Amino acid sequence: MSKKHILLLPGDGIGHEVVREAVKVLHWFVAHGTFDLTFDEGLIGGSAYDAVGTPFPAETLRQAHAADAILLGAVGGPQWEGLDYSVRPERGLLAIRKELGLFANLRPALCFEALVDASSLKPEYVSGLDLMIVRELTGDVYFGTPRGVQMEDGELVGRNTMIYRASEVDRIARVALNLARGRLGRLCSVDKANVLETTEMWRNRVCAIHAEEYADVALSHMYVDNAAMQLVRNPKQFDVMVTGNLFGDILSDCAAMLTGSLGMLPSASLGERQENGKQAALYEPVHGSAPDIAGQDKANPLATILSVAMMLRLSFDAPHAASMIEKAVNHVLNEVRTADIMGAGKKLVGTSEMGDHVIACLDKLKLAQAA
Ligand code: NAD
Repeated sequence: MSKKHILLLPGDGIGHEVVREAVKVLHWFVAHGTFDLTFDEGLIGGSAYDAVGTPFPAETLRQAHAADAILLGAVGGPQWEGLDYSVRPERGLLAIRKELGLFANLRPALCFEALVDASSLKPEYVSGLDLMIVRELTGDVYFGTPRGVQMEDGELVGRNTMIYRASEVDRIARVALNLARGRLGRLCSVDKANVLETTEMWRNRVCAIHAEEYADVALSHMYVDNAAMQLVRNPKQFDVMVTGNLFGDILSDCAAMLTGSLGMLPSASLGERQENGKQAALYEPVHGSAPDIAGQDKANPLATILSVAMMLRLSFDAPHAASMIEKAVNHVLNEVRTADIMGAGKKLVGTSEMGDHVIACLDKLKLAQAA
């Protein structure tokens, strides 16, 4: 039986409530003998600042290095907004990504049949949608130097630098090509190679890695402006998309809305695989700490539960367990809903009851498999 160690970082606001439900799901797999899991819990964000004066304590970094995978809730809240930038809760998130070298951000846009009507697109465009966006997370214009705003020749000049090293493109290209290989076998690399030299180099490197190592994957390229248009015109044409940090920031939010609700969106951030096979991996819902509903048993825990499904698939090599969770989520949506995704004829439930329904559905799926 696979033995794994998970670090839980609930963070702030609804982070605690949604992580609790996701842990119920992990315990279900332990109870059914799928995994032997151990858990540790750490501090991050505003609650870490309150406890020890920093949003990313050294102890949390130590715990993170010791874990096979990390499950994070969310950070932030109005009570910390007046703090200096260097100790704001969000610095905790940036710090953990940087310290663990989490360069690959994976954001699936999966449209559950029961939520087809929640999308802003017509049902026929999103029904069956299963798209994965791979965003490079540690390079590009967000980190390039020189940067800043200064006075030059009597006026203010703002400057940021788009920069990628070939090795950074190669490693994200491999992540995306590998994912495509395990899905429908199609990768679309998004750039602006007609105008920006950096992204022309990006395209050339993606082509080289593809030709040398992944010729079995069907590779295409698209300019970012066209990609934005195609995402809302015909999103089902895509299987996996890969792009840089800036374009990925925008396209992944655009793709997220195709599926209807913030409370449904999981994500994974991965580091480089080490020679001993270990790979830093952090899983978290896309949403924030939702201070407006925190502590009221109203939060939708499904994005965090679906982040656990990603963890099982990507870190624990357990695709069967991952798809059981996704199937259970699809089933429960036909009957119960949290307020954010409430629909006609469905029963309104709170955070904890939603988690219980997912567990009950996993029980049913297990029984059906055994029959
Ligand atoms: P938010 O995602 O927290 O909330 C936006 C809206 O969506 C709110 O109305 C909220 O109630 C609702 N919502 C979010 N998640 C939900 C869920 N699971 N179930 C039901 N409803 C949900 O974004 P915000 O209000 O802009 O930010 C609040 C705080 O979260 C800020 O401090 C922000 O910096 C932080 N934040 C953190 C992360 C993160 O930890 N990754 C991401 C975004 C924002």
